[in-house]
Amino acid sequence: MPDRHIRNIVIVGGGTAGWMAASALSKVLGPQCAIQLVESEAIGTIGVGEATVPHLKLFNQVLEIDEIEFVKQTQGTFKLGIEFVDWGRLGDRYIHGFGSIGHDYGLLPFHQYWLKMFRAGRAADIGAYSLNTAAAARGKFMVSASDVPPNSPLANIAYAYHFDAGRYAVFLRRYAEARGVRRIEGRVAEVALRGEDGFIDAVKLDRGERLTGDLFIDCSGFRGLLIEEALHTGYEDWSHWLPCDRAIAVACENAGPPTPFTRSTARAAGWQWRIPLQHRCGNGYVYSSAHLSEDEALQTLLANLDGRPLGDPRKLEFTTGMRKKFWNKNCVALGLASGFMEPLESTSIYLIQSGIARLLNLMPDRDFSPVLIDRYNTQAAFEFERIRDFLILHYHATERRDTAFWRHCSSMSLPEPLVETIRLFKDSGRFFRNAEEMFALTSWVQVMLGQHIVPHQYHPAVDLVPDRDVAGLLDSVRSVIATCVEAMPMHAQFIARHCAA
Ligand SMILES: Cc1cc2nc3c(=O)[nH]c(=O)nc-3n(C[C@H](O)[C@H](O)[C@H](O)COP(=O)(O)OP(=O)(O)OC[C@H]3O[C@@H](n4cnc5c(N)ncnc54)[C@H](O)[C@@H]3O)c2cc1C
Repeated sequence: MPDRHIRNIVIVGGGTAGWMAASALSKVLGPQCAIQLVESEAIGTIGVGEATVPHLKLFNQVLEIDEIEFVKQTQGTFKLGIEFVDWGRLGDRYIHGFGSIGHDYGLLPFHQYWLKMFRAGRAADIGAYSLNTAAAARGKFMVSASDVPPNSPLANIAYAYHFDAGRYAVFLRRYAEARGVRRIEGRVAEVALRGEDGFIDAVKLDRGERLTGDLFIDCSGFRGLLIEEALHTGYEDWSHWLPCDRAIAVACENAGPPTPFTRSTARAAGWQWRIPLQHRCGNGYVYSSAHLSEDEALQTLLANLDGRPLGDPRKLEFTTGMRKKFWNKNCVALGLASGFMEPLESTSIYLIQSGIARLLNLMPDRDFSPVLIDRYNTQAAFEFERIRDFLILHYHATERRDTAFWRHCSSMSLPEPLVETIRLFKDSGRFFRNAEEMFALTSWVQVMLGQHIVPHQYHPAVDLVPDRDVAGLLDSVRSVIATCVEAMPMHAQFIARHCAA
């Protein structure tokens, strides 16, 4: 039998996507494949991307990366969720906390019991029943404890990281190079296609070197050097649903201890992020250029920093959407080359991770079975679309009418699956997580409630439980969570004790 295994992988791009791919592929396929990564220091990386979701912990675990070392090296902090300010109404504030809310009781999720009591004025805000939200509000953090009963909320704390994206790429580069990945400095000047089937044969560098491969991974950023410029795959534009198309980013000095959450504040024509790291705080205004000038965006950003700005603001342009195919012929696009959705729920790095996992799962041989490629593309598109809908929800579920931007968002038409999700929840608090969609029930529930979508009814089976018992359930959850939060250290103390850079 001739050898049909993939033996040579060429990765174009050395941003977060390129080095995550190089690290994971070298760890998993190491001895079977030669992996080369070409990047250009002159072109540089996007350099933002500082907030993540809890899934990254799993990526690090697969790579056997030591968590403490990782946090130290990247000036990292911990993230229990995202605080949304001024989204539903001016003056609003709610937290989308990771992890569970209360605990399921019988066949029903906790929020169904909460709904009944809340409608009767007998329950606190839903956040009081989430360890993450209650701890984030108090600035507290710890990783899961091993010396508590397994059913304690402290035994299983869901958290993510904030980190310096530049340092993360350096960290992963060291990891990948130590596992045999060959890094090549240079600019790809040309992509050579095979005459017979249009597959990529090689990339040619400006210095003349020619890199051939069986499989090419396009991590070249927004332009999609291979997937778009060479293979003309096409792009699905979602600007009519997610109208922000610009960002201005600037770091500033920390003005206090780092909060264990990302903050997202809705502004006149978009929103501003605040991501505290150990050595500085990352900030950016994501806005719609149809509704706001660059000068106005910059002024708003600079007027709303915790401390003195560090360095010059960076301006970025993007078009929200996804490639029509993520995997085309022998090229898989990851990161910004595959599509982009604004960082409102910190999903881009997660999408890189899930693309890598999907590729490893569907790893082809040199025949590139269309069955594998089709499955990859269907799953990736589904994942992108459901995240897109979750982001649109944030913009659409608002009572704000104070600017043209918010009037547009509140009145725009929605993708049909999102219409259905909102209708079902409004009816009686029901939610179904479809197939492999990323965000779970608790995420959708917190954002819908946080932005004033309150169900008209609750599940009829809630009435099978006497009110006294439902009230008892809520009281006990709330008091257990309050006791746990009391016992947790402050986030800054936790970092100082375990992982100060
Ligand atoms: C405003 C903004 C905020 C964001 N915030 C977050 C966040 O909080 N959380 C999150 O998860 N994600 C966030 N992201 C997304 C995140 O930044 C990216 O997903 C991530 O950095 C991956 O980028 P990349 O590696 O795909 O592309 P890039 O960083 O652009 O890297 C592209 C690479 O390709 C190389 N390259 C390009 N052309 C050539 C060529 N011709 N020859 C050789 N090399 C070439 C470049 O040198 C570079 O190494 C944000 C993005 C933006 C725009």
